[in-house]
Amino acid sequence: MIRILAVTNQKGGVGKTTTAVNLAASLANLGQRVLLIDLDPQGNATMGSGIDKRDLADTVYQLLVGAAPWAKVCLASPGGYDVLPANRELAGAEIDLVNLPRREHRLADALAPHRLDYDYVLIDCPPSLSLLTINGLCAANAMLIPMQCEYFALEGLSDLVDTLRRIRRGLNPTIDIEGILRTMFDARSMLSRQVAEQLAQHFPGKVFETVIPRNVRLAEAPSHGCAALHYDRNSSGSRAYLGLAAELVARHAPAGVAA
Ligand code: ATP
Ligand code: MG
Repeated sequence: MIRILAVTNQKGGVGKTTTAVNLAASLANLGQRVLLIDLDPQGNATMGSGIDKRDLADTVYQLLVGAAPWAKVCLASPGGYDVLPANRELAGAEIDLVNLPRREHRLADALAPHRLDYDYVLIDCPPSLSLLTINGLCAANAMLIPMQCEYFALEGLSDLVDTLRRIRRGLNPTIDIEGILRTMFDARSMLSRQVAEQLAQHFPGKVFETVIPRNVRLAEAPSHGCAALHYDRNSSGSRAYLGLAAELVARHAPAGVAA
């Protein structure tokens, strides 16, 4: 069954895009059919998937406002998964969507006819609670929340819980937390270890076992237009995201089927 995950955290620079791209490539590597949706006008997930955002006539923006069909927007990434790409044009969606019918559900509606085509859909959300993020949360089964293992990580927690409550109350009553992902973990840092532990205490049963280390290959790979997996497969970052993909697949494997 399809699993639609919004990679989201209102805090900036916590590893949302890195997670979306590397998890998409890793799930594809495990034989899953994957779609990555770039909902950020920065277009980093698009570029990191080997698709030049500057060359695009049609992006997720056209799809959301109804100006282009899915077939014109959806592209195959060299990483083995499909992408609904974005560029700065998407910033205009914030204004253009306001007066359209079902403005919070435009992405969910666009996705509905394609639910049988994918096992996993990952939505890379921007670092704000904008109408774009709300579209991501309305389309999703669950939130995948990257959290940087540093001092201010816990600061955004109450915002996140609040957002989840508000979305559940009105727009998407069944949305849940898929998991909190500890990112940029530095095993040598006492603070990193303390924050990682605190996250596990605050959200019992909701924190992924897999921890993503701070690894320079994860920062370098986007400039090569690929996930770390296709740049340096043996790097600690690449192996961690493969581990996360395996953790997810094992969790959602149909009963009786070994992951
Ligand atoms: P934004 O809120 O702006 O969308 P984001 O949450 O998507 O940011 P990323 O763009 O994924 O965050 O990461 C922020 C920066 O940290 C990037 O330069 C990225 O390459 C780097 N980075 C992310 N994860 C790691 C990691 N595990 N190790 C080293 N560098 C990382
Ligand atoms: Mg990002």
